[in-house]
Amino acid sequence: MSKQRENFLVIGGSGFVGRHIVDRILARGDAAAVFDIVQRHHDVPFYSGDICDEGQLIDAIKKSGATCIIHTASPPHGAKDPSIYYKVNVDGTKAVIAAAIACGIRKLVYTSSAGVIFDGNDVVNVDERVPYPEKPFDDYNDSKAKGETVVLEANGKGGLLTVALRPAGIFGPGDRQLLVGLYQAYQRGQTHFQVGDNNNLFDYTYVENLATAHLIAADRLDSEVAADNAEPSESAVTAATE
Ligand code: NAD
Repeated sequence: MSKQRENFLVIGGSGFVGRHIVDRILARGDAAAVFDIVQRHHDVPFYSGDICDEGQLIDAIKKSGATCIIHTASPPHGAKDPSIYYKVNVDGTKAVIAAAIACGIRKLVYTSSAGVIFDGNDVVNVDERVPYPEKPFDDYNDSKAKGETVVLEANGKGGLLTVALRPAGIFGPGDRQLLVGLYQAYQRGQTHFQVGDNNNLFDYTYVENLATAHLIAADRLDSEVAADNAEPSESAVTAATE
């Protein structure tokens, strides 16, 4: 039996990750629309708005006919005023959930961050059972942890199913942070510094793989396998993090 066509609203879909998610959705034949404060992707219906405004979200959800929301919006790391992180990543995410439930949305996938469990010390061989640190590394990561908590606690409320993904470094076409930052360090002549003993490891994910992971997570949220398992199976977790 062929799967029913999914209708995605990608919040933050004009961003680096969001644009690749939109591309993956279109490539597999599903429908995509974008909700963002800026428009950069011109191939899909676009709804201009701020996630802190629940009314704008409800309007976009209704007009787009969305069945699944992918929420990947966030202010970029490095803001002068950290209150913007809490406003968008926590209050804005609460508004997304309220709007999703009000509109009968069934599935919500949230782009969190590996930084939510980072406090400045090495993180080695851990998984999602590790608790949030008592002292968060910074306001950005703290707001992402609080936003993620809001999303996960909403699972099952008002018929909404939720999941959060935690990417670390992301690279690929359209990246405006990772390689740009490395190149700027090179231009400033900062290449002779070394952190640690040259054995440090860090996770990097290619942006198209991360986009695919969002769609796998969305699919698994309401698959029979997910419904049959109160606890996520090993294969379900692997599929959502590959
Ligand atoms: P990005 O800045 O390229 O994209 C974010 C998008 O969100 C932008 O288009 C922006 O306009 C939109 N946005 C911001 N505030 C908004 C608001 N109030 N209302 C509506 N739209 C708003 O960032 P990205 O690199 O694509 O990151 C996407 C997600 O991945 C973010 O949630 C980020 O925290 C997470 N993440 C990114 C990285 C990375 O290395 N880039 C690593 C880990 C997690």
